Amino acid sequence: MHELLMADNIMDVVDLNASIERVTAVKKIVLEVGELACAEPALLKKYLELALEDKFAQPAEVEILNIPVLARCKLCETEFRLDDEIVACPVCNSVDIFYKKGREMRIKYMDVVE
Ligand SMILES: [Zn+2]
Repeated sequence: MHELLMADNIMDVVDLNASIERVTAVKKIVLEVGELACAEPALLKKYLELALEDKFAQPAEVEILNIPVLARCKLCETEFRLDDEIVACPVCNSVDIFYKKGREMRIKYMDVVE
């Protein structure tokens, strides 16, 4: 149910924008979701589309862009992409790494009706 909470958080941002910018409906939202944000994109999309339609009584399109995980080795400072296969630094094999990108979830773009 993690995705439901995420959809709620995004709706809070939409609500805030709607009250400031006099938005009457949202036509489209583009989200950037990191692979480490642990969200199932299809589920998040569905929840959000339902929530938007419920609020504005108009269908909305939600697009989710997947942000790959970028890591940096703390020992040799190599930057590399992490996936299921690669979990250590490809240069020195260290697992002492930090995540530079991939945890984020943000609204990249919002097309609204005023
Ligand atoms: Zn390294």
